[in-house]
Amino acid sequence: MKWSISLLLAVCVLAGGLTRADGVDAKAHAAAVERAVATISEPEARGMVRLLTDPHVAGRGTGSEGFLFAARMMAVRLEELGDEPFYGDSYLQSFNLLGGLQSMNVLGFLPGETRETVVLSAHLDHLGVEYADFDLDPRKLSGYYPGADDNASGVTAVFQVAKAFARIQREEGRLRRSVLVAFWGAEEMGMRGSEALAKRFQQTPSLRVGPADLVFVMNMDMVGRRYEGDDEAPGGRKTVLVIGSPRTRTIEQFAHRNPILARVLTESAQSDPALFLNFDELRQNLRAKNVFEEPKAVWWRFWGVYGRSDSYTFAKMRPGLATLFFCGPEHPDYHEKSDTWEKLDYDRLVRISRLAFRVAFAIAESAVTPICDCKEE
Ligand SMILES: [Zn+2]
Repeated sequence: MKWSISLLLAVCVLAGGLTRADGVDAKAHAAAVERAVATISEPEARGMVRLLTDPHVAGRGTGSEGFLFAARMMAVRLEELGDEPFYGDSYLQSFNLLGGLQSMNVLGFLPGETRETVVLSAHLDHLGVEYADFDLDPRKLSGYYPGADDNASGVTAVFQVAKAFARIQREEGRLRRSVLVAFWGAEEMGMRGSEALAKRFQQTPSLRVGPADLVFVMNMDMVGRRYEGDDEAPGGRKTVLVIGSPRTRTIEQFAHRNPILARVLTESAQSDPALFLNFDELRQNLRAKNVFEEPKAVWWRFWGVYGRSDSYTFAKMRPGLATLFFCGPEHPDYHEKSDTWEKLDYDRLVRISRLAFRVAFAIAESAVTPICDCKEE
């Protein structure tokens, strides 16, 4: 009685799902998800940010030994998680920049049951060292840019999200969708790392996934610092800026352009009432207290955060692709040598990382593909 079995399954799904279609008990599955969430920890976040901002890493400048070390370290960490290399036997994708400079992306892959792929990403590079003079003489080094918030925080968050994915896969086997973890090089030089991968996608159809396989791209940048808007967040909650489309200022506008993603975000955020999701795409530059009153606000009115993230590279590559960019405010230490590890709020970093995992995981195990109406009229 085929129809009745289908009907029974449909009733189960509508009733909140006593069993998943693949027979995994829903309660056991929910417990496994919570165990994966719990692997995202504050001590690991603090440790990784401290390593990435260590003086020996020298600000992870493009083309530097410090960046190379950071890239190799992240490749080893992905290998330890059980992620596979994305290209052959290498986790690294090198690419050339003008002036003979070279950089690389670190790419790990967790194969799912299908080629459909969720991308988790953050830029690994920062501004490197500062010279007292313009002749780049190493004897005249005057300091380095640690880039703790920008973007050791995002790298750490994405790594821990990847760790939670690896954990649940160990317990429950392959997810429906594959996961590509990407730490970009040369973002500070104009999002060159993500562009290098997008180009490779388009030029090399034989890659294990192609542009058509991407179902969701999540990027994280500057998610460790206190947000000035926290004063306005209800109940003094910690704010995270959530960007998924251009010129979106409210959850309603976001939901209009990104209905599926809005639902996943809203449901995922219920697990942490201490977080406040701010959807104001034009709100990034908080050095201007009121962006609509200060003179430079005229400029910001037309250019928010949407186009300033590596996820935008893929939104441009494939119109309709849903992307999500978690970020924070431009604070006084932004792109300064004072962006140091001890100024981060690690409780915030962990809460945002856990939310990011819940969102990405919900999409990775679903058969539903979020679509964005992201026209930039
Ligand atoms: Zn950044």
